[in-house]
This record gives sequence, C-alpha cells and structure tokens, in this order.
Amino acid sequence: MLASNNYLSLANHPQVVSAARAATTRFGAATLGSRLYSGTTDLHVELERELADWHGAAEVLFTTGYQTSVGTICGLIGAGDTVVVDSAIHASIQDGCRLSGAATRTFQHNDVDSLREQLQHVADRGGACLVVVEGLYSMEGDVPPLRSIAEACREYEASLMVDEAHSIGLFGADRTGLVSHYDVADLVEIRMGTFSKALASTGGFIAGSTELVDTLRVNARAFIFSMSAVPAAVASALAAVRIARSDEGAALAARAVANADHLRQLLSDRGITGGGVTPSESGTPLSGPIVSIELGEELAAVATWNRIFDADVFTGLSLFPAVPQGKALLRLSVMATHTEDQLDRVAAVVGAALQDHRTSEKSH
Ligand code: PMP
Repeated sequence: MLASNNYLSLANHPQVVSAARAATTRFGAATLGSRLYSGTTDLHVELERELADWHGAAEVLFTTGYQTSVGTICGLIGAGDTVVVDSAIHASIQDGCRLSGAATRTFQHNDVDSLREQLQHVADRGGACLVVVEGLYSMEGDVPPLRSIAEACREYEASLMVDEAHSIGLFGADRTGLVSHYDVADLVEIRMGTFSKALASTGGFIAGSTELVDTLRVNARAFIFSMSAVPAAVASALAAVRIARSDEGAALAARAVANADHLRQLLSDRGITGGGVTPSESGTPLSGPIVSIELGEELAAVATWNRIFDADVFTGLSLFPAVPQGKALLRLSVMATHTEDQLDRVAAVVGAALQDHRTSEKSH
C-alpha cells in the first residue's frame, strides 16, 4: 500500500484503534450537534488542550481539514482583501479563497521572487493580504523555502498561513511540522494541520494567537454550522498526537523518511527520478515521505498505474485538476512500517512499468 497517507502507520496502531473503540463506547457514535451547540465533549476539549500544549499556541478544532481551510480563510478575510497562494496550493485553500470574496493571486511554485512580485502588487493596491503555503506539497512531495517566504511576508506586512496537512508528525524536533523545522513560529500567524495523514484520523485545527482562535470560533461558518467530529475520530487523533510527540513518534517519523530515501535510491538504480527531496535553506536537503514520479499524458499514465496495480502494488495516481493537465504524477506514499522486502518489490514493479511507459512514449 503506497496510496494511503498513513505515513507513521498509526491508523493500525493498537493504542489508536483501542482509543477510538473506547470513545465510541463511552460517548456514542456521534455528537449530533455543532461545537457551539451540543457537540463539545470532554474529549474535544482534551484534544484542543493537547494541541495547544504541542504548539505552544491557542487551538481550535474543525471536523475536517477541508473545512479548516475554507472556514479559516472565509472567517478572516473578504472583499477588498487579497490572498496570495503558491501555484500548487491544495484545492481546499483555493475553494476558501473563492468563497471568501477576496481577490486571489498566485505565485510560481516555491519561488520567492515571484511571491515578492505579487506582494508588491498587493501593497500598491491596498487591503489586507494573506499568504498561504503548505509545509509539504501533497503532489510534488517538496517543501517551500519557508524562512525566506516568512521574511518576505513580514517585510510587506502580509499574514502567513502554513497548511501542515502533510508535514505534521514528520518535520521539526517536536514534529509539529515545517514551521518548527525552520524555527519560524514567530513569523507565522496561522498554523493549520489535519489529522487525515500522519495522525490517523479525520479533522483539522488552527494554532495561533488566542485572538485568532476566538475569532474563528465565532466567525468561521464551517466551524459553526457543521457537526463536531465524532468521538472515535477525536480519540484516535488524540492518541495519534500523543504517540507522534513521544520517542516512538520520533522513531516512526525517522523510519518513514529513511524508507522513502531508500525507495528513491532503489528507483534511481533503475534510472528513475523520484521527487520529494528539497534543497534546504539550512544546507542539508530535506526529505519527505512522498516519492512522486512524472508520468505526463493522462491515458498512458492510467495504463501504467493499472499495470502496477495488477502486480499488487497500490500507488496513487494524481490527475488533472489535482495537477496541471498533461502532467500526471505517480505518487508513492511511504510508511514507517514498510519492510525492505516490500520496498524492493515496489521498486521492481514500478521500475518495469516505467520502462515500458517510456518506451511507449517514445514510439508515439
Ligand atoms: N490541505 C491539504 C494540503 C491536503 O492535502 C488535504 C487533504 N488531501 C486537506 C487540506 C484537507 O484535509 P482533509 O482530508 O482532512 O479534509
């Protein structure tokens, strides 16, 4: 399985599974109320407190990561303001921008000069400016030059939001994500995360100042007008966060990245470049658990993915509109518990399929 974002393998961890089971027994299958109505259990409060302690900030929970993006952007900005996003930003952020009524401008992927051009444009136009980037890009598997981005935002008085959906649990000494890795928490107003990848559940959160979090509790419609997360989801997220914070979490994160690096090496031995390593601002390249391989045109990409699937290797295939048209990506999400034998087999199957893919591309 290389199509699930279960990077730390926590979805099957006994403590996570039994926490979900116990919460269902104690609190029932669902809260059947929104957070501001009847949907706040002791568990929801406990998870917010755990996250607050982890980030050293105030926290608010949302029912899904998608709602976190949409609710936060719409709850903070509107007509007359501008959101500046990376060209590879996730659909949930794009949808939040659309619904907010703010103008949206895009800068070239991970390009700080291009960001600065957009920030200058907004400064000339006036209005509040929010910049949104990801801590680890879900398709490409690379990370942004976050310190330079944060410094540019500070210079232009723009607020910065970092979506750590794929980087939480993996980066930083405390594993809160890329903001921690680059030690730029004081330059990032809005830290967002989801439980739907390394943290083995559903739901999302915002970490920031008390003022920011309190504003969202009364202004984010996706928070107010939607049922709170079901107890099983909150309990599994809480158990996963506690493991992620522990020495066990540190070992799992290191294992996931080491496994991904090993797979990249095995693929490279077969002449295949697997993305997901970014030259770092601090010198040492930063590796993530996503190994992406360019496949190009959609129909040929689907045929290659099918061939790999038929050999019992389940990979991800990213097609338009998740990626630009004609730029399909084979996406391998590596887990902490993948064994060496499994990775050998993946490299052999993917290697053979890619060889045929390239031969058929040349003959067309
Ligand atoms: N942000 C990013 C970067 C994502 O990849 C995703 C999920 N694919 C989301 C937000 C939405 O999260 P969720 O699946 O928890 O709704």
